[in-house]
Amino acid sequence: MHVRVVASSIALASLVACARSAEAPRARAEWAIAIHGGAGTIPRTMDPAQVAAYEEALRRALALGRDGLSAGKAAVDVVEEVARQLEDEPLFNAGKGAVFTHDGTHELDASIMDGSTLACGAVAGVKTVRHPISLARLVMDKTKHVLLAGDGADRFGRDMGVELVDNTWFDTDRRREQWRDAQTKEAAVVDAGPTEPADAGVKGTIGVVALDRRGHLAAATSTGGLTNKRWGRVGDSPVVGAGTYANDATAAISCTGTGEEFIRHGVARTVSSRMALLHEDVEAAGKGALAPLKPGDGGLIALDANGRIAFVFSTEGMYRAAADAGGRFEVAIWR
Ligand code: ASP
Repeated sequence: MHVRVVASSIALASLVACARSAEAPRARAEWAIAIHGGAGTIPRTMDPAQVAAYEEALRRALALGRDGLSAGKAAVDVVEEVARQLEDEPLFNAGKGAVFTHDGTHELDASIMDGSTLACGAVAGVKTVRHPISLARLVMDKTKHVLLAGDGADRFGRDMGVELVDNTWFDTDRRREQWRDAQTKEAAVVDAGPTEPADAGVKGTIGVVALDRRGHLAAATSTGGLTNKRWGRVGDSPVVGAGTYANDATAAISCTGTGEEFIRHGVARTVSSRMALLHEDVEAAGKGALAPLKPGDGGLIALDANGRIAFVFSTEGMYRAAADAGGRFEVAIWR
């Protein structure tokens, strides 16, 4: 494998990369998987019971992915399956447990991409579909489109016979509290104009990248977006090339953080392009793609076709997990 690491810049110094960068190039892992549950201000003072709950949820998702990949399932099926499980996990901001919009509702975004064909599908602003990631998969498999938004996306879900729920099904007390806090803060910002929605710093997303036994890569990302978002705001998660990307020739990538910045810099696709054009390894490419963003904007997970995993983030922590055919099975939160 050709490895060239571009000289680190000051901006790169604020990034943490947890790839196994010191290792010599090695044979391709038969399969591998990485997961994130969002990056941000994760206080180290967090209640130990809550830390344990996050770690356990990540471990459960990782075990599901490991079992599927080791049994020979396709990467695209595994990322969907694991993302569905994470969408049902109320701790994470995706599906059940999604953050509240300004109007006290939930609007969900998701995307999926198959690196073997560059097929992709996405949904934005969905309100009644229990598993937005599966709706994104149906956009990919059953339509000639890539992205469906708003009421039309919900209608497509109905037409496809997916499981529908009332929007309040996504409610959790914890997210309602965060929304109320955000609204209180917003009311207190006297100078804020009408174009300044309050981002209380509360966000999150889930993402999964996988390499299967046939050497195919896939990525999936699903989110409730930003707390207190309004006006139909859509972030990077359903934008292929920004929050999600997969190409067997390079890597599978899922991002998390301030979506506007990830869209602006086309972060997920940049990781892939840097690998293809600059011949960077997955870790260097991940750092390079994130470098133009501000510290604290977020992070990404990336997995190359050799099974090499990079976790790159400029935040205090990122809920994350990794497993591969070599016996790796790890979860982590802080740096
Ligand atoms: N990227 C997501 C968004 O902007 C939020 C997150 O990942 O924390 O909608």
